[in-house]
Amino acid sequence: MAIEPGASGAPARYTLRAGEHRLDLNARLGQPLRLAHTGAIACTHCGRATRKSFAQGYCYPCFKRLAQCDTCIVRPETCHFHAGTCREPEWGERHCFQPHVVYLANSSGLKVGITRKTQVPTRWLDQGAIQALPILEVDTRQQSGFVEVLFKEQVADRTNWRAMLKGDVAPLDLRAERERLLAALDGGLANLRERFGLDAVRVLDAEPVTLDYPVLEAPTKVVSLNLDKTPEIAGTLLGLKGQYLILDNGVINLRKFTGYEVVFE
Ligand SMILES: [Zn+2]
Repeated sequence: MAIEPGASGAPARYTLRAGEHRLDLNARLGQPLRLAHTGAIACTHCGRATRKSFAQGYCYPCFKRLAQCDTCIVRPETCHFHAGTCREPEWGERHCFQPHVVYLANSSGLKVGITRKTQVPTRWLDQGAIQALPILEVDTRQQSGFVEVLFKEQVADRTNWRAMLKGDVAPLDLRAERERLLAALDGGLANLRERFGLDAVRVLDAEPVTLDYPVLEAPTKVVSLNLDKTPEIAGTLLGLKGQYLILDNGVINLRKFTGYEVVFE
């Protein structure tokens, strides 16, 4: 599922992609929807059939072999490229040795996150954030991990997805939070600059971004639907937020089922 920011303040645009097919999900709001999993799962990397999906879309051999499935992607501060043990050094150079942004977002309250610079604002839309503010820029994924570890002393790094979907999230003054956190973590940031170079951790002076989602009706009680347990899911599409479809009888995180062959109607 691809999510793009809406034009000038309009809600985000959701497109379901399957091979060459494109389905405009915004146009399906308020309409009945049916998803039926055929039982087939194909690895999103190599295309091979797999009985189970690992790390949201990979077969087991790819899960064990690809750098993008290594634990250092989730915990970038544990990057081991310098030890010569990167699973795919060329992939690492292309993806991890690139400018990364440390941001504050409001998805279910204040959180800190990191992303490759080119993934802004996609990353925020994926998380269902209603506000976001880039605050620091660094040269590598590992450095962004060290900065994030520092911020985690003060701020959450996870989204409470139930609260995010219910939508009862109060707006935050992200600029004020930025000031507060940069002051509180001044010593830790100075240590990182000492280690990586004076201009390694650069403070950004950006304006907060507001993000809007196409939601007719937010769920009051969040029931999670799962294609592994219920291969056929049908309901009325009430909204799209983060990677979730909100139906009148439950919500489904489509990202979780990447690679699943699904009949969609
Ligand atoms: Zn594979």
